[in-house]
Amino acid sequence: MQKISDSGGLLVGLEIHQQLACSTKLFCACPPVKSETLPYNFERRLRPAQSETGGVDPAAVFEFSKGKSNRYFWSPESSCLVEADEEPPHPLSEEGLDSALLVAKTLGSNIVDEVHVMRKIVIDGSNTGGFQRTAVVGLGGSINVSGNRVGVQSVTVEEDAARILGEDSASRHFALDRLGVALVEVALDPVKGDPELVGRVALYLGRVLRSTGRVARGLGTIRQDLNVSLSGGKVVEVKGVQKLNLLPRVVEYERARQSALVQVAAELKERGVKEVTCRSTDVTRAASESGSKVLRTKAKEGGKVIAVSARGLKGLLGWEPSPGVRLGKEVAEVARANSLGGIIHSDEFEGQGITPREEANLRRLAGGREDDAIVLLAGSKEQVDACAPRIVERLREAVGGVPAETRAATDTGETRYMRPRPGSQRMYPETDIPNIGVTGEKAERLSKAVPENWEARVSKLARAYSLSDDMALKLYDLELDAEFEALSRELRLEPSVVASVLVDVPPRLAREGVPQGALEIGVLADALRAVAKGKVAKEAVPDLLKAVGEGRGSVDEAIRSLGLTMADEARIREIVLMVINRLGGIIREKGYAAFAPLMGEAMKELRGRADGAAVARILREELARTPRNS
Ligand SMILES: [Zn+2]
Repeated sequence: MQKISDSGGLLVGLEIHQQLACSTKLFCACPPVKSETLPYNFERRLRPAQSETGGVDPAAVFEFSKGKSNRYFWSPESSCLVEADEEPPHPLSEEGLDSALLVAKTLGSNIVDEVHVMRKIVIDGSNTGGFQRTAVVGLGGSINVSGNRVGVQSVTVEEDAARILGEDSASRHFALDRLGVALVEVALDPVKGDPELVGRVALYLGRVLRSTGRVARGLGTIRQDLNVSLSGGKVVEVKGVQKLNLLPRVVEYERARQSALVQVAAELKERGVKEVTCRSTDVTRAASESGSKVLRTKAKEGGKVIAVSARGLKGLLGWEPSPGVRLGKEVAEVARANSLGGIIHSDEFEGQGITPREEANLRRLAGGREDDAIVLLAGSKEQVDACAPRIVERLREAVGGVPAETRAATDTGETRYMRPRPGSQRMYPETDIPNIGVTGEKAERLSKAVPENWEARVSKLARAYSLSDDMALKLYDLELDAEFEALSRELRLEPSVVASVLVDVPPRLAREGVPQGALEIGVLADALRAVAKGKVAKEAVPDLLKAVGEGRGSVDEAIRSLGLTMADEARIREIVLMVINRLGGIIREKGYAAFAPLMGEAMKELRGRADGAAVARILREELARTPRNS
């Protein structure tokens, strides 16, 4: 088997879902808060409905076939009858709509004349009604990421889904607090190639969204989906990348995975296999004598074992064209998504205790030829019967290379099979909600509210205050740029001192265990004011904040309790002379090179009660007077 090294033609479309900062949910008056306790619950069973075009969504059928019910846990503080689908939705929240429209305007999209709320079929149980409400607000537009123009396909306002809590064999458990929370979804045109670029595009778009001031901050408020394909191949949807730094890894993994599957298809072509015909046979009786303990146990405990023969696939299930990617692993993921523990296939029979003799027997029973693969499924009768057609489908798809499917991103940057890709018949109009016209007046107001481009803002900040670009960007990302400007103007301190206290000091102290309350902007501003007034030296700020964190009161109270009042000239000179006296040996040895250690010692003695520049001046004066041997 020949490996193809060039996988080329990678295309990645990004879809960002960002929570909007709104006071209510999108279709009711409940606040978007996370509930710690969810005292009530109810159960629902969803079934796939026909769409208006008459088709039934394959993804919907897939979820339904698992046969699970859904149990929803809720609290009146975060949910009402709308989330329970017991009461019609309220009109689309104007706050949510305006925020999404502003995002669209900021991206240069064309705003729609009229907003139509649609229902998108979702049958994994994460919506009580079996659909998600969504409305396109803008089309087109672009962002420019270090010279790469990336087009915007659409900007959509939509409701978030319920939060999954877990599942048991009979039902899935969801929390309703997140259901209905306003999100904006931005879908970008596919980006060519480079996984790193995908990461940078996502980072850039995140900053554009935050520049509007209308999006929620913090963990879990942004979620990225990817549409990944190799040139000419089917599109794989990867859901739920929560950490930005995982994006390039996920893209890299998909590239390797998809190129491996293309290579399997090429090998099948080489073998002259145009269609992977499969045959499923009940081999439970033979399995009760199997050398594999798993098979023996399942067969003896009243379960069922099926052998699927797959034309021409022998040797290709265990083949690893890319590191960690094997067709056998892909098929096993499909089995797991269908509630089966996994599969055993003929490329790994030996490791499972299945002898060549047993293999020959299974091959004969399954009607498989010598070059066919044999895949064994074992479990309860219901599980195996439900799973077998899925496995057959997946094996048949091997000739086509990459199947269109929905996958989930893992914490390690890999992807795992979830379900078939939803079909196109998954949208229909939401008739409970009237269409909303976007008036000329509203459009005009939005145009005026479009924020300055974030890159321009950062470079202006750096120039105006002689900061490094990196420091200016940190201030911007922490959303402290406005406070920084205000403090710099108010206090007449070096802007680099203000920036460093806002940006560098808090994370360092947080690592040392100083509580967040002592590192908030108000406390930092008070500490800077104390420096500006000459009450303490800038070097004392960390000690000051630690004292506030220890509960020693306000910044001013902490200054008093630490005895951090500034030392006067005479006191500084006294300390400097004491240090020179104590470390006289170093001066005799090193001469003027002793300045640095002496300075460090003097600052330590003064513990932030003197400005470094004053100490240095006095130390220099005194050193000049000190007799030296050299
Ligand atoms: Zn509600």
